[in-house]
Amino acid sequence: MSDTGIALILGDQLDRGSPVLATVRRGTDRVLMIESREESQRVWSHKARSALFLAAMRHHRDWLKAQGYRVDYLTLDDAHAGSFASALDTTLQRLRAAWLAVVEPGEYGVREVIEAACRRNAVDLQVLEDPHFLCGTTGFAEWRRGRRTLVMEHFYRHMRKSHDVLIDDGEPLGGRWNFDRDNRRPFGREGPGMLPALPTYAPDAVTRGVLADVERHFPGNPGHLDGFAWPVTREQALTALEDFVKLRLSAFGPFQDAMWQEQPYLNHSALSAALNLKLLAPREVIDAATQALARGRAPLQSVEGFVRQVLGWREYVRGVYWSEMPGYLERNALGAHADLPDFYWTGDTDMQCLRAVIGQTLALGYAHHIQRLMVTGLFALLYGVEPAQVHSWYLAVYVDAIEWAEAPNTLGMSQYADGGLLASKPYPASGRYIARMSNYCDGCRYAPEKATGENACPFTTLYWDFLLRHEARFARHPRAGLQWRNLARLDDTRRMEIRTAAERLRRRIMAG
Ligand SMILES: Cc1cc2nc3c(=O)[nH]c(=O)nc-3n(C[C@H](O)[C@H](O)[C@H](O)COP(=O)(O)OP(=O)(O)OC[C@H]3O[C@@H](n4cnc5c(N)ncnc54)[C@H](O)[C@@H]3O)c2cc1C
Ligand code: SF4
Repeated sequence: MSDTGIALILGDQLDRGSPVLATVRRGTDRVLMIESREESQRVWSHKARSALFLAAMRHHRDWLKAQGYRVDYLTLDDAHAGSFASALDTTLQRLRAAWLAVVEPGEYGVREVIEAACRRNAVDLQVLEDPHFLCGTTGFAEWRRGRRTLVMEHFYRHMRKSHDVLIDDGEPLGGRWNFDRDNRRPFGREGPGMLPALPTYAPDAVTRGVLADVERHFPGNPGHLDGFAWPVTREQALTALEDFVKLRLSAFGPFQDAMWQEQPYLNHSALSAALNLKLLAPREVIDAATQALARGRAPLQSVEGFVRQVLGWREYVRGVYWSEMPGYLERNALGAHADLPDFYWTGDTDMQCLRAVIGQTLALGYAHHIQRLMVTGLFALLYGVEPAQVHSWYLAVYVDAIEWAEAPNTLGMSQYADGGLLASKPYPASGRYIARMSNYCDGCRYAPEKATGENACPFTTLYWDFLLRHEARFARHPRAGLQWRNLARLDDTRRMEIRTAAERLRRRIMAG
């Protein structure tokens, strides 16, 4: 009986310090990595997302080999790479594996596939806790126990205290837990001014091979690979972190929510993909930001704003995902059933904000948080798109897309599909919000303040229509009520005008 063991490394587990490597006996056991075509087809992926995952995996494979590990690496061209499950089955049988060790997979469905393959092949499965995250799934379950609502702010404070981040003698550094109120500034007419360019990483031979493979295997997938320049190794990810801390962190805070035409990155870090692939650890990213504060290179307002995203939101959404799966992906609390408009896949719309954000997304695989939440997400919410379709779109088009992070953000925060578990209320807004926070409306044929009439802004029409459609549910809601109380000012004629305008708009969008 063979006692060969397999340390399975998934595409988003590329940390060099992974505990799975400690299970490997160098002479006998193998490290297994699988490229699966299904991963880019089942989730119809942006070409840059597939390329980023595969390039980072192939570089990690080369690093493992250089450390002396025996690596079994299945590429897209392998006969069994069609599905992850069949590739796993074949390898377990070929190596006559006795056991398989893996760090907790990030995605619920992947964990199920691994468990089933091990059962089918009578292989012992060891699932190791994921030390990448600062709050494990059990830690989150403990924090959650006995709470009726999952307020992110409470979780964030708990994390600040338990990990001693920006804490001074048990109290928040600077006397405040958050600077949210100061961190929502628009740029003003003069715009963001000169911005440092995002560092780029010219594809080496390994990455060029991946780019060619992605074009060959997935020619019809969305997005394109021109100018692909994402960090794909640990070394590149570290320089990307250093560059952000040096050049953009200090201005990150105040303008976190602002948007500007043709400036996709502004002062954002663009580190999410490197974090999600585990080329960077959240703790080192947080430490780099707090050290910049200690050295006087970035103000507390910006450092706290950034730490809140990584230590707060990122850990929180992962906790919500794992404590709500399975079942979370099917939620549809607002009963939304419209189809996702076709322009989400092309950017071909006369709404300037959507054209800009979708165009940028398809070109780069990137949009910052407020572009995702308050442009593409907001329109889907107001239009009433079925949440599962919104979920599929977000999972397809961003280089950092990964289900544990994407699903709570899309279904919970953006679409209110979970009925208030993550966001206590829906966040509808009209075109006025976009006009305040960006310059998109300047070049648009619509007028953000108008709900009806010739050049009414579709966001504003659908905003009032959304309030009307959900009046019974939210009019007496303790936090949402204020927005709905504005409806009291509308007489029946005005209500009818809005409903008619929304109906006409829907027909126009459906007709393409
Ligand atoms: C509808 C929707 C879908 C999203 N899908 C994803 C996804 O698939 N993968 C993903 O990593 N993020 C997702 N986000 C969260 C967030 O938009 C991205 O993490 C962020 O825009 C990435 O850009 P950045 O690295 O420049 O972030 P920055 O603005 O520089 O923020 C710093 C880091 O904080 C973390 N972060 C910030 N906000 C969030 C958040 N709300 N949830 C989790 N982490 C956060 C990210 O790791 C990010 O790199 C989604 C948000 C929305 C509204
Ligand atoms: S006017 Fe409306 S549709 Fe046009 S850019 Fe502004 S918010 Fe978007």
